[in-house]
Order: sequence, then structure tokens, then C-alpha cells
Amino acid sequence: MKIYNTLTRKKEEFKPIVEGEVRMYTCGPTVYDYAHIGNLRAYLFMDNLRRVLKYNGYKLKHVMNITDVGHLVSDSDEGEDKMVKAARRENKDPYEIAEFYMNAFFKDLDALNVDKPEIIARATEHIKIMEEYVKKLIENGYTYHTDDTIYFDTSKLDKYGVLSNRKVEDQKAGARVEFDTGKKNISDFALWIKAPENHIMKWDSFFGKCYPGWHLECSAMGYKYLGETFDIHTGGIDHIPIHHENEIAQSKGFSGKIPANYWMHVNFMLMNGEKMSKSLGNVYTLSDLIEKGYEPMEFKMLMFTSTYRNQINFTWESLDSAKISLQRLRDGYLKELEGTDKVDESEIKDYENRFLEAINDDLNMPVAMSVVWDIIKNPKKSKDLANLLLKFDEVLGLDLKNYKKQEDKLPDEIKELVSKRDEARNSKNWAESDRIRDLLISKGYKVQDTKEGTLVKKG
Ligand code: AMP
Ligand code: ZN
Repeated sequence: MKIYNTLTRKKEEFKPIVEGEVRMYTCGPTVYDYAHIGNLRAYLFMDNLRRVLKYNGYKLKHVMNITDVGHLVSDSDEGEDKMVKAARRENKDPYEIAEFYMNAFFKDLDALNVDKPEIIARATEHIKIMEEYVKKLIENGYTYHTDDTIYFDTSKLDKYGVLSNRKVEDQKAGARVEFDTGKKNISDFALWIKAPENHIMKWDSFFGKCYPGWHLECSAMGYKYLGETFDIHTGGIDHIPIHHENEIAQSKGFSGKIPANYWMHVNFMLMNGEKMSKSLGNVYTLSDLIEKGYEPMEFKMLMFTSTYRNQINFTWESLDSAKISLQRLRDGYLKELEGTDKVDESEIKDYENRFLEAINDDLNMPVAMSVVWDIIKNPKKSKDLANLLLKFDEVLGLDLKNYKKQEDKLPDEIKELVSKRDEARNSKNWAESDRIRDLLISKGYKVQDTKEGTLVKKG
């Protein structure tokens, strides 16, 4: 299996530390608001990666954090805590905010049939290990402090910026900070911060009542569950220049090691060609999509039209196409299920090999999907092909096996009208057949005449 490693800027053969097992960390959400569909792209990438690793037979130990304290409005230590800001916006306690939006996030993941990490770690439940981590960094000589903040001193490292490959000039100690934070170097960052009097989220510590910095949270929780080094670390491309550089800096200071061997980053989703942002009013949630009549799985289907390393441009037209594609896939699957043709084992093997080759080429989902379409286009209709699609769905996660024919989901009254209409048509009673068709339309159904009889669909 080949994956692109941001650390080496190369596609590399994946070799886990322990054979047959993958230890992995994903930077999770800051739970101060609903996730938007751009955020959800990041977790669909995570789902895809997990499923591909499992398909390859790996056992997973995967940690995702929930940031419920310490993520300041700017990633580089400016502004206030996002949780505190949200609490003020909604006139609630920050813990209530965290609970509410964390649950909303999990609801979205469930609706998208996301395979969740084995360990979900909430920052506020891991304060002690974070404090220990800071103490070790102090002991190892990687910190300094002002009256209210303990900072990581990036000038103590041989190189800061290994992921984003920063220029030497940018790393020089003494490149002074322009704003008055008390930082010695522009790339230094806060580890442990004294909480203001009115700050609800704070904990007694060796440095007074404090709260942790966001970067520290991931390093400390990753270390707790996965040890000093593990296999894969994932996040969004926005994490590369600050958050992940700082995680690496902390681990270097803590254990002398880069915590993960492979770093994978998912690119952004754009909205009509622009960056998604609240101020542009182009931010949508999964619930917005559902309200407009789309299924979460249709959004998931849209993600397979691009590789995770490319930007994806969300438009309503592209979601409409994904809707049609998903229906085509589902209909194709049902047709195969009813098929009786015999398909050669070698033909099945060929599809399997092509699919595996695509997903193992750094999760190339557009190519993997082209194999799926080839199966559907196969003139033979066969249960063997249906089973193959189900096998591939272990990677796609579209819940194909639970898909029911539209007709099977119709209310009894409608099913009865459909069968009465078919009877009328068979006995060439066109007047009765037209009457029932109009009745179905008046009840909000689209009516189509097919070789197999009347086909109805809601809406
Ligand atoms: P946050 O909750 O702000 O920490 O972000 C959660 C995740 O969403 C992070 O992994 C970000 O990299 C990712 N993310 C934010 N905006 C986008 C976007 N427009 N497209 C894809 N991923 C995004
Ligand atoms: Zn993180």
C-alpha cells in the first residue's frame, strides 16, 4: 500500500511499526459549533483511510481527540478560547457547549456511516497527562515562561518546520515577535496558560490555575494512547504549518522523536470555487443538505469524485450528479442481486485486483469508482457481482447491503394502488389505469411505465 507522506513529500510504501497493526492519530474537531461540510470532508477522508487499512487486513488502534478547551481563535495563540467565545454567544456554560456540539458531530458521523476511531479522547478529561508532559518539557530545557504563559522555545530545536519545510531564515531564533505576547521567537507557542479570573475551564497545576494549549493536547493524548512513536498522523492541510509543526516540536522536546512515521493531510473543500467561510455565507451543515432533500450518503458519494489530496469544489450541481450516481449504483446492485448469470472467477479476480490497486495507490477513489462502474456496466447480471460490490462497499461505506428497493419502502396503500394499476394495464383497462396514475400523482408520486410494470417514486 502506498501513501503520500507530507513529511518526506513522497508517495511511499506503507510499513507499520508492528506487523499487521496500525497505530494512528487524527486531529479531531473543536466542538464550538456545528461541523460544516468542509469539516466533514476531513472526517470522510479519515473514514476512507480506516476502511482501506482494514480492507488490507490491518488491525487498527486509532485515536481522535475532541478539543473542548484551549483552541484559541487564531491557531498561533491569539484571541480567546473558541469554547469561551461560543459560550458567551449562546449564553451557556462552555461544558454545555462542548457536550452539545460533540453530540451533533457524532450524529453527523453516524449519518455518514463513518467508521469511528477506537479511542475518542476529550481534552478536558486528559489534563493531568498534559501537565506531566509540560513538566517533562521544562525538565528537558525546551520552555520559558512569562507571568501567565509557559512557552515552547522553538530555537532549542535543530530544525523547526520539518513538515512545511520552512526556510532557514524563518527558523532563526530571535526573529522577534511583533505583538506583545512575551514570546522570544515568532514560532514559539503556548503550552500552559494561566486562566483569567472569569475563565470557567481551568485546572489547579504547578503553575497556578491553568488550561492547556491546543497543540499540547494532541501530543499528550497521542503519547498516552500510542506511545512515543506511532504509524500515521492525519489532519487537514491547514494543520501543516502550525499545529502539526508544533506537535512535532513538542515530541522532539519530549522524547527526541518525530511522533509519527507518516503524515497525511486532506485538502480543502471549496464552495462554488471560493473558500468556505461564515462571513461569505457559504457554509452549509449536513442538516442543511438534508433539509434540501439530499441524503448524507449522496454527499459521501461526492467525495469519491476527487482524491483526498486535491481540492474539491462543492456545487449543488455536483451534489445532484452524486445523487444520480448513487441511485445508479444502488439500482445496479439490486439488478446484480437478482441476476442468475455465471461470471468467471478470473473476471472477479481482475475487478478485485484493479480495485485494490486503486485504493492502495494513496486512496485513489476516482479510479476505484471506475472499477465499480465497470461492474455495473457488465452485461452479465450475477449474484457474484453483487457480492463483489458488497465487498467493495467495506471501503466505500455506502451501506449498500441495507438498501431497499424504493417499492419496498412504499406505504401499503400506495403498493396496493400500484398492483391494481398493473392489473388494469394487463387487462388493457386503460381508463382505470389512467385513473390510478392520476391518483398516485395527486398523492405526490412520480409514475413511470416500465417493462416490469408501474414504477413509482416519491416527489
Ligand atoms: P476544526 O474543528 O476547526 O478544528 O476543524 C476540523 C477539521 O476540518 C480540521 O481537520 C480542518 O483541517 C478541517 N477543515 C476545515 N475547513 C475545511 C474545508 N473547507 N475543507 C476540508 N477540511 C476542512
Ligand atoms: Zn491535533
